[in-house]
Amino acid sequence: MTHDTYAVIGAGPSGLAAARNLQKAGLPWEGYELASGVGGLWDIDGPRSTVYESAHLISSKRTTEFTEFPMRDEVADYPSHRELLTYFRDFAATHSLADGFTFETEVVQARPSGDGGWLVVSEGPGGRQERRHAGVLVANGTLSEPSVPTFAGSFDGEVLHTSAYKSPTVFAGKRVLIIGAGNSGCDIAVDAVHHAASVDLSVRRGYYFVPKYLFGKPADTLNQGKPLPPRIKQAIDSRVLKLFTGDPVRFGFPKPDYKIYESHPVVNSLVLHHLGHGDLAVRPDVRRLAGGNVEFVDGSTRPYDVVVLATGYHLHYPFLDPALLRWQGRGSAPDLYLNIFTQEDPNLFVLGMIEASGIGWQGRYEQAELVAAYLAARTSAPDAARELEARIAGPRPDLSGGYRYLGLERMSYYVNKDAYRSAVRAEIERLR
Ligand SMILES: Cc1cc2nc3c(=O)[nH]c(=O)nc-3n(C[C@H](O)[C@H](O)[C@H](O)COP(=O)(O)OP(=O)(O)OC[C@H]3O[C@@H](n4cnc5c(N)ncnc54)[C@H](O)[C@@H]3O)c2cc1C
Repeated sequence: MTHDTYAVIGAGPSGLAAARNLQKAGLPWEGYELASGVGGLWDIDGPRSTVYESAHLISSKRTTEFTEFPMRDEVADYPSHRELLTYFRDFAATHSLADGFTFETEVVQARPSGDGGWLVVSEGPGGRQERRHAGVLVANGTLSEPSVPTFAGSFDGEVLHTSAYKSPTVFAGKRVLIIGAGNSGCDIAVDAVHHAASVDLSVRRGYYFVPKYLFGKPADTLNQGKPLPPRIKQAIDSRVLKLFTGDPVRFGFPKPDYKIYESHPVVNSLVLHHLGHGDLAVRPDVRRLAGGNVEFVDGSTRPYDVVVLATGYHLHYPFLDPALLRWQGRGSAPDLYLNIFTQEDPNLFVLGMIEASGIGWQGRYEQAELVAAYLAARTSAPDAARELEARIAGPRPDLSGGYRYLGLERMSYYVNKDAYRSAVRAEIERLR
């Protein structure tokens, strides 16, 4: 049987944006989703969800929502995962998107058919199926495959990656060590202080802490005009942060050996609060695990019951041949034009493979808008489509916005939201 639909893999924010934009462009599509409904990782019951009971947006609602579907005014500035799941269900219902997805169905393989199309193999309630599609839009998320470091020695207590963490009751009465102080690590540390006997946070480097509110407004709603040059923005924002949150070094963190925005900032008003109250303590990097103890690089040793690995996630596209994404192996990211288009196949697109401060779901929506515009232009504006193809085959544009990002795995697909969104929007305009 021949199908000329585009396959959308995943019904999270990126997959819904893909479905919606294909729909708007009049392009037929069919979706596959492993969970029983839409919402992606915001559905805490989804099999790949990595949100926890206390999870809320880190960016505020107005900088995160889809522009065409604003959240209701009554919704809080930083809504909980439950509210966000309702939002995505409402979005899908408004545009009749859920009917286009087959749920509880996992794509286990997607490969070019050899004649310009794609074959998608899935497993679900109907068994294993192979279907032909015109192309594939991959939107399977970036935060589900845990990055688990190996440590010297062994630990007698419980070791838990943040991906498996749901509720702080697991910490009741326990001595907890959280390794890594990214956004999830800090959220979980704050959760733990209300239940655990003690909570320590082990860090390798210093961090910049951005409070959720500045001058009484969600911090990310300030400075939304024309982006300031990096040096000026870094100078102003680090000054403002020092005034508002104080110096994290005072609370035991190492001094960052990089400037603000050269790594993903931690948006959390409560970690420093709890450090100031003695509910939390900062420890250095781990040297080795030693039975019921953990030894740190400064030579100190402390006993713990639970170690939480807040060590992030790997990009993971297990159903695709890595060569199709020009994947350079673990510790790096696929080499894609605008983090979307591969040089290897004109009908394969990756959505949501962006990490950026403040990119929001609208940034992901615009990726889908670009893909739909390109597919439509292949018929309606073939010259413009060919010009984009030439750029896909050419050198990669600078999406750093002039910031020098740290050479960490999670920064390998990091972009500056302003540079990225204007590059994507410019491509959309050229196709119209
Ligand atoms: C605690 C936490 C807080 C966050 N806060 C923010 C925030 O404040 N602002 C922000 O912009 N982002 C935030 N994020 C990032 C979050 O990843 C995005 O908001 C958004 O969910 C990304 O959407 P996505 O559709 O790309 O991926 P996901 O939401 O991960 O959805 C991917 C979907 O694909 C499905 N899937 C995976 N593999 C397959 C397969 N093989 N076959 C079929 N289906 C498959 C999954 O089941 C899932 O439903 C946060 C993440 C976490 C964990």
